[in-house]
Amino acid sequence: MSFYVTTPIYYVNAAPHLGHAYTTIAADVMARHHRQRGEEVFFLTGTDEHGEPVADAAHALGVEPQELADKNAERFRALAPQLSASNDFFIRTTDPQHEAKVQEVLGRVREGGYVYEGTYEGWYCPRCADFKADNEIEEGTRCPIHHIELTREQEQNYFFALSAFQERLEALYGEHERFVLPATRRNEALAFIRSGLRDVPLTRHRLRWGVRVPWDDEHVFYVWFDALLNYYSALSYARDQDLTARLWPPSYHLIGKDILRFHAVYWPALLMAAELELPEHIFVHGFLLMDGEKMSKSLGNVLDPFAVIERFGADALRFYLFREVPFGQDGSVSTASFELRYETELANELGNLASRTIAMLLRYRGGEVSSGALDESLTGDFSGLVDSVSELIDGAELTLALDEIWRRVRRLNRYVEERAPWVLARDPANAQELDCVLRTLVEGLRSVAVLLWPFLPGSSERLLAALGASELALAGAALGAGQIARVQALESLFPKDTQAASA
Ligand SMILES: [Zn+2]
Repeated sequence: MSFYVTTPIYYVNAAPHLGHAYTTIAADVMARHHRQRGEEVFFLTGTDEHGEPVADAAHALGVEPQELADKNAERFRALAPQLSASNDFFIRTTDPQHEAKVQEVLGRVREGGYVYEGTYEGWYCPRCADFKADNEIEEGTRCPIHHIELTREQEQNYFFALSAFQERLEALYGEHERFVLPATRRNEALAFIRSGLRDVPLTRHRLRWGVRVPWDDEHVFYVWFDALLNYYSALSYARDQDLTARLWPPSYHLIGKDILRFHAVYWPALLMAAELELPEHIFVHGFLLMDGEKMSKSLGNVLDPFAVIERFGADALRFYLFREVPFGQDGSVSTASFELRYETELANELGNLASRTIAMLLRYRGGEVSSGALDESLTGDFSGLVDSVSELIDGAELTLALDEIWRRVRRLNRYVEERAPWVLARDPANAQELDCVLRTLVEGLRSVAVLLWPFLPGSSERLLAALGASELALAGAALGAGQIARVQALESLFPKDTQAASA
């Protein structure tokens, strides 16, 4: 079994913001979960470095595009470890191996008869690096995303014969109900296909900053085709050996809804033209909103994920984003709702549960855990949990998966109150019952910690280390599958006074 997940490659012409962090964390949650299942996992992220916006920005700064790309790519490369993201490779579209692969694949597409010369005229947004269809132009001939005025552009191009794939794309959507997820995005992409596909420019004539077209020196490939092919090219040079045969096609492309058409229409058509296998799923997540607008540098409403991480840690950010906004939908985020969830859920519900359980074992049993049976009043509530979490993550339902686990965190908290170990501890006649309650509790804690690891990797590892049970394999995640012998004191997982904690 293999699992290959990608984020979009991030455009270097912006600073990393919460939107980038969001997709990277989502891919990381899926990658970690599949590693826990013992699968061969490849998690790819990187940067998209060609195109007019980068060339223009470099020109304005008086530097070469490569210099600007080098500088900005580093900021995105540094983002992943700050988020505790475990990507297996970081691709840059200026990597020479990538460029060679783009030339090879698109040369094949041309040989297949899907490329021809023509003239294109349309409304162009330089920030999107894309022409806009007449029905998506905002009033005043503005970009619907950037709200800037579009320019009328005409150029001599090579075209990709997208229209040749009309029927095959409709058939793909008909046969593969879950090719694009969620269903609303699938319907949107399918409606676009059904409205009638037109051929699209494959190359840019006047631009120099891009991958050279091997059959015509005066052209570079249109940045979107160059960028999309990163998913394919990376496998050929990320390691000493070519991983393509083992890992292609991707299991999941995670994308934002603003790049749906490229991934859900152009990309499968391009792969068909190149006779390559199609990805299994394209999952389209929503936007994190502040003041009702998509967060982006050009809109100037950026919430800095680095400030959150510095004060509360990467785990807190990872948890909050998937707890607060159902994955796949738009949703609002704010520092107020972040702090509320940190305090009530991470600090109180999970952090306190862990410290109380360990403290009681240390106080009443010197840290030793009995090996008796588990309390049946709790075990039923955990049965089937591992399978249901796996199923949800298979469908990229990250928020629902987290919710399943968190219901058990809350169940464990209720169990503490129901069984009140501090009352049992008063009478030595209850010793056996107290042993059973403490063992059940600590085993429940271990089970949720293993399941939470994809979301809270650092905190789960600390907790599991204190439980002397660092095994992360999902096969041993079920309640009762573990055998904890002894626990050790644990520093607060989610300190409330975070200013003091970071000092
Ligand atoms: Zn735009």
